[in-house]
Amino acid sequence: MKIRLLPVSLFAALLFIGCGKKETSAASTAPSATTPAATGAPAAGPSAAAPSTSAAAVASATPSATSSQARTIEITANDQMKFSVTSIEAKPGEQLKIVLKNIGTLPKEAMGHNWVLLKKGSDAAAFSTAAVAAKATDYIPDNLKGQVVAHTKLIGPKQTDEVTFTVPSETGDYPFLCSFPAHYVVGMKGTLTVK
Ligand code: ZN
Repeated sequence: MKIRLLPVSLFAALLFIGCGKKETSAASTAPSATTPAATGAPAAGPSAAAPSTSAAAVASATPSATSSQARTIEITANDQMKFSVTSIEAKPGEQLKIVLKNIGTLPKEAMGHNWVLLKKGSDAAAFSTAAVAAKATDYIPDNLKGQVVAHTKLIGPKQTDEVTFTVPSETGDYPFLCSFPAHYVVGMKGTLTVK
């Protein structure tokens, strides 16, 4: 019985508040929604300019969708000839972005680094040996290029390079290394496990 009394006044009050809120929020979001659309339109391109609100939503959704597709793995390399990451797990067909940062200070000629992923079953030691004679091609030997799944550039101190690639569909272990002479021997190597 008490319930009957309450709802009438409460309902009326809530409706009032509700209506008031709706109106003010609708009024406040309308101009703020058009402003980013207007500023975002030129960057998104001429095709996105026509339907202002939906174009803004699409423009903001697209970059986040592509960046979430590629999983980023940051690997540092240093003067001690060590990778910060030596073991990576990935799913078949996954998009991976490897960001290699050389945090050392020694010159590139003496302490350059790269990140080279080889096909499953490749002999990384043999690749490293062959790479010694491949200075002209940044230590990626031409005759073994077919074994390379993906690789960064050879980078000097304080430099960064990245490579985005699709993880092979076949499960198993894929060796990676720095192919700068002797770095593999010292331990600049690791494994990408696809499973
Ligand atoms: Zn190296």
